[in-house]
Amino acid sequence: MASWSKVVWFAQGVPRFVFITWLAFRDRLSTGTRMAQWGVVQSCLFCGEPNESRDHLFFACRYTFTVWLAVVGDLLLAEADPDWETSLAQLVELRYEKLDYILLRMVFQTAIYYIWKERNDRRHMGRPKTVENG
Ligand SMILES: [Zn+2]
Repeated sequence: MASWSKVVWFAQGVPRFVFITWLAFRDRLSTGTRMAQWGVVQSCLFCGEPNESRDHLFFACRYTFTVWLAVVGDLLLAEADPDWETSLAQLVELRYEKLDYILLRMVFQTAIYYIWKERNDRRHMGRPKTVENG
């Protein structure tokens, strides 16, 4: 199992948050980076950055980083960092009290879930309604 597995899978995890987080860890969310493979151009819907990658969304984007900072508060026991790998290392390697660690992982997964949901809501907003998505 990858070292990040304990950040994804834990007894108190909420399944829909766990699932989106797992996709994020595998870099399988349909971000702009992946959509480019299908010939679709998708820039960041929060800040306009041309390359909407997983690492940009979590949390190199100045908008989503502000969200992460706000929700994680003092739980991280370290300075929050906009870099995905650094955030991961913090979550995997730092030592936390049991309850704090449950909360921290929940907050992390909730942030990923709602940022991804908001991103998709924004993506679908300015589009004309059709029978398919209407
Ligand atoms: Zn952005």
